[in-house]
Amino acid sequence: MNSTNEQKDKYKVLTKVVQQLEEENNFEDAVGGILEMIGKCMDFTSVTLSKISDDTKGFYVIRRWQDDNVNVERKEISHIPDDIIPPVPEAVTFESVSTSKGRVAEVLKYYNVKCLMSVPIMLNNAPAMFVTFVDVRKERVWDEEDKNFILDICKLIQTILYKRISKNSLVSSYNALKEILSNIGSAVFVIDKYSKEILFSNEAADRMARTKLVGKHCWDFFYSEFNQEKCKMCIPHREKEYFTEGYDVNRRIWQETRFDDISWVDGRIVSLCVVTDVTEKKKYQQRIEFQANNDFLTGLYNRMRCEEDLELCIREAIEDRTQGAVLFIDLDDFKHLNDGLGHQYGDLLLKMVSMGFQQISEIEKRCYRVGGDEFIIIIEPSYMDRMDRIISDIRKLFEKPWFIKDSEYYCTMSMGIVYYNKDGQDVNDIIKKADIAMYDAKKSGKNRCIFYNKGEDIQKGEHLDIEKNMRYAVSIGCNEFEIYIQPIVDMNTEKCIGGEALVRWNSGKLGFLSPGQFIPMAENLGLITPIGEYVLRQACMFNKKWSNMGIDVRTNVNLSIIQLLQPDVVETIEQVITSTGVKPENMVLEVTESLAINDMARMKDIISRIKKIGVKIALDDFGTGYSSLNYIKQMELDVIKVDRTFIEDIADDSYAQAFIKLITDLSEVLGVKVCVEGVETKEQLDSLKKTKVSMIQGFYFGKPMPMGEFEEKFLRVT
Ligand code: C2E
Ligand code: MG
Ligand code: MG
Repeated sequence: MNSTNEQKDKYKVLTKVVQQLEEENNFEDAVGGILEMIGKCMDFTSVTLSKISDDTKGFYVIRRWQDDNVNVERKEISHIPDDIIPPVPEAVTFESVSTSKGRVAEVLKYYNVKCLMSVPIMLNNAPAMFVTFVDVRKERVWDEEDKNFILDICKLIQTILYKRISKNSLVSSYNALKEILSNIGSAVFVIDKYSKEILFSNEAADRMARTKLVGKHCWDFFYSEFNQEKCKMCIPHREKEYFTEGYDVNRRIWQETRFDDISWVDGRIVSLCVVTDVTEKKKYQQRIEFQANNDFLTGLYNRMRCEEDLELCIREAIEDRTQGAVLFIDLDDFKHLNDGLGHQYGDLLLKMVSMGFQQISEIEKRCYRVGGDEFIIIIEPSYMDRMDRIISDIRKLFEKPWFIKDSEYYCTMSMGIVYYNKDGQDVNDIIKKADIAMYDAKKSGKNRCIFYNKGEDIQKGEHLDIEKNMRYAVSIGCNEFEIYIQPIVDMNTEKCIGGEALVRWNSGKLGFLSPGQFIPMAENLGLITPIGEYVLRQACMFNKKWSNMGIDVRTNVNLSIIQLLQPDVVETIEQVITSTGVKPENMVLEVTESLAINDMARMKDIISRIKKIGVKIALDDFGTGYSSLNYIKQMELDVIKVDRTFIEDIADDSYAQAFIKLITDLSEVLGVKVCVEGVETKEQLDSLKKTKVSMIQGFYFGKPMPMGEFEEKFLRVT
């Protein structure tokens, strides 16, 4: 072979070997062909690719090409005795039998080899295989060109090996990955950042897009599932990681979309997109959030949320130099209803009240239940011009009865109103002040709205003092409580026919207190029961004393709803009546009309059992509450006491006159007497003269006074 041809052949071999780089066939087959080409081209008798055994002690042949025309004694390397095995060739070695020495020379002789070249194939910086070029016919002088050619070929073999290994591991890892990804619920796909081509997609992604996504533009996914907006996220040069969450209106699911930059198999940076249905997680989060922010019973926001919202509202008001309002609402006598009807009905009322609040526009999202029967409503600055309407809507809510347990119940509320960013700028301070105003509303007789004004902080302090002292006063036997009496006169004769016992508290610590200052609290604390019993006993004792003197007058005693709800109320009254020896018919028990609880059946039963004792029953404060005429008809009443608010303008108020006429007409039919309270002037009295009212009570005839004074002035007892 002349050198030009030889040269040409070398290039042919080189080209073919390079082509092998891109072939898909396996490494062994690729190398088999190369060994043959190079063997023939370089005129070797054999070319062998061997692999060092795992224990590094031996070799095994992966592929060998051998010139069939040359008779070579086959000696498998594995059959070579240990001591003949050449050392692992870490470096390229060129040997010729005449120049070799030592063990190498022995090996060459053993194989009957004239010359040999051995090139290691490196993997991970260590020789993993080697290619051995052998000629058994003649010795060679290894010229540089031959050496370089062989080394180039071996380099290529090494590259082919690398490529095949990495491709194999890639294919297997790619397949494994595909397997894993097809089994997960999330849509996973890979997008080329520049062309936006989808390079990979799992089954879930294809399912979502209803098409095989690979090869398509990423819009095929986003348009089908989301919106254009999301597509922008995979635009190149965006952040390396991008996370977004959204609600898919069409499919009614929450989805989380994540983009991450990753290196693709070919080394380019691509966008890995994972879309996960997080509806369940979202629902759970919402549930947790709801539980943290909402009151489980009514569904309204709770105190925590109230404070958070108020904080923001105050901050806004400060920034905008505006003001808003906080309404603190407490249901009147809720405790009675709860105790009287049972908790489930109390709960029902709370729910109905809450629903009522939420139906008032402008505040539907600003209602909070902050305690048992306590509610807060925040009026934002932008709605302040509608505050009067909001308050009136709230009031209206309580004007109608609530339908509970097959009956209609009335429930009033007391409201404290405070302006934030005017009366205060601190959440706790504002709520405290609203609470104080609310308490003031309770003290003033409930069922009203009172604005906070600064002086009232002190009263709150008093409030605690009153509680402490009242408990003490009761514990030492109620002696600090004194019975005053206000005369009740006959309309026709204008003579005193009796009086109403009204309690006063001469507190050793707090001084003189009128009922308005302590009765609501006594009711809340349950202390009204012992105080009321004390008043009744005292009133009975006086009446008994007067009877003994031959003066038979009526004594009215107020009975709180709390007392009426005591399971032993009838027995207690009976015990007082019998133990004092008073004539029962001389005693009139006033039950208030503004009963928070109008459990007709229950009340009817209690009243009729009390009546059996022989005492009379009066319905107090008629006209202030909401008991219907139906109520009067069903109760076995003896007297209806019309509240003084109806008398104030009776002289020139045609509605008040019509109301009194209606009541008196009706009571005549029912055989019930009407007593009008609060008569202060001659004009009022004269207006009433035209009606069928039978009794009058009011400052015109006499204010509530100590018993001694009453006896003196009205009973002529000295
Ligand atoms: P009430 O039972 O409606 O008593 C009548 C109230 O009207 C009394 O107020 C009386 O002073 C007032 N009054 C009577 N005539 C006039 C008038 O001409 N003009 C004005 N401006 N007021 C008049 P008082 O004594 O302050 O009692 C207030 C309320 O406290 C009573 O209203 C009653 O609901 C309650 N109360 C008083 N004592 C007791 C008691 O021993 N037990 C219970 N449970 N409640 C009581
Ligand atoms: Mg009364
Ligand atoms: Mg009254």
